[in-house]
Amino acid sequence: MHVRDTIYINGAWVPSSGTGTIDVIDAGTEEVFATIPEGTAADVDAAAIAAEAAFASWFATPVKDRCALLAKVAEQLQARNGEIAEVISHEVGMPLLFSSLIQAGLPTGTFADVASRAVDFEWEREVGTSLVVREPIGVVGCITPWNYPLHQIANKVAPALAAGCTVVLKPSEIAPINAFILAEIMHEVGIPAGVFNLVTGTGPVVGEAIAAHKLIDMVSFTGSTRAGKRVMQVAAETVKKVSLELGGKSANIILDDADLSVAIPDGVFKCYLNSGQTCSALTRMVVPRAKLAEIEAIATAAAENFRPIDPFGEAPEGTFGIGPLISAAQRDRVRSYINKGVEEGAKLLTGGAEAPEGHDHGFFVSPTVFSEVDNKMTIAQEEIFGPVLSIIPYDTEEEAIAIANDSLYGLAGGVWSADPARANHVARQIRTGQVEINGGAFNSVAPFGGYKQSGIGRELGSFGLEEFLEVKSLQR
Ligand code: NAD
Repeated sequence: MHVRDTIYINGAWVPSSGTGTIDVIDAGTEEVFATIPEGTAADVDAAAIAAEAAFASWFATPVKDRCALLAKVAEQLQARNGEIAEVISHEVGMPLLFSSLIQAGLPTGTFADVASRAVDFEWEREVGTSLVVREPIGVVGCITPWNYPLHQIANKVAPALAAGCTVVLKPSEIAPINAFILAEIMHEVGIPAGVFNLVTGTGPVVGEAIAAHKLIDMVSFTGSTRAGKRVMQVAAETVKKVSLELGGKSANIILDDADLSVAIPDGVFKCYLNSGQTCSALTRMVVPRAKLAEIEAIATAAAENFRPIDPFGEAPEGTFGIGPLISAAQRDRVRSYINKGVEEGAKLLTGGAEAPEGHDHGFFVSPTVFSEVDNKMTIAQEEIFGPVLSIIPYDTEEEAIAIANDSLYGLAGGVWSADPARANHVARQIRTGQVEINGGAFNSVAPFGGYKQSGIGRELGSFGLEEFLEVKSLQR
């Protein structure tokens, strides 16, 4: 068991000012996997003071020197890939191979990318008689979720530090051990004291203390829309900049000329990755009514090819392993949505609310597909965050686009067509921050973020770096 009894403030591992601890539960075994300090508002205060004190000299450090340290962080993340992947498979339940590639691999790439990108960034530009310079916003509070825990941390911490900001990080209390590993690495590579601080604890206590703190200039939040709204309200008091990466209910439009044998299995995969606990999961498959029966058959077969497995087990040859959900609460929530889908009259093709056979231990949910879903149904409107796909039929292309856009959310989407120009035309009409065309792969340097209630701001690549910069005009 991992026992972490200190937090990281001003370059040192120190006890929390509080005495509480939080248990971290192993998603596959339901056992306590680790304990962490339940931090306090006083801890946030100490971290914010340290971050503010460190800001001037970190800002004055040449960007190439800041980036050289971030490149070392990337190297150390790479060196500890196996350990990080294992930790996250325990915390989140993702099968180990995917954890290694995605959960540990992506953040390594993000630190490396930022380290080179920031050096070449256009830090200043002439605009008429002015010199416009980009400067770090100051102290940044980062609040992150559990589903891709280190990836979401890296999306904020790497560009913030490259920009010259200093950071107070509050990771998810449900998957926090990976953040302790990052803090160890920050210390080892020589990130100066106060530049990076880690305070663990709950959202309402530590998260809100960050959002409220007057020395913190910006809060960068990833998580649920519910908590994001609260962060924005609390932050308003000090007029902080707020960036939000929130939920999604993304639509995958299958046009009538798409190759169904490729599009449908890909769509099922994009819904089920990380057991459906992905903000950009393609959870609504919007399909031509005339081909519904064929699509139902392919989707059912694809879903049944996902086999619930222990995160450290292996899926049978030719099948995909799908791990447990993160927690009992999440499992119960997802199962109640499945019941709701049945109650509201959707057609259950496969899966259901019962535990998958042989998996009544660990937080497993059966890979589930509903068809004949009306977009007004709860399962089509609310983010379920589990392996539940809703197939929604349409009659015309215009109706498909209207269904895709009939959502509070606007994070991601997909379009499939044999004609790339047609797919492009449809993609441009979807009101979301990302759209993948014919299964276009996730691009870790393309801007990521949402329209509507999916958020404010963008992460990754140059757009992600700009989030942490102020703009100053020097008139001459
Ligand atoms: P959550 O909102 O419960 O928690 C996210 C973080 O916010 C945690 O660190 C939590 O402790 C903290 N928090 C909770 N209440 C808070 C409050 N009142 N004030 C300040 N902080 C608070 O979300 P979660 O369950 O950890 O993650 C799942 C959600 O995150 C899903 O809705 C998912 O769509 C979303 N998400 C979005 C993105 C994106 O990039 N758009 C990425 C991943 C996850």
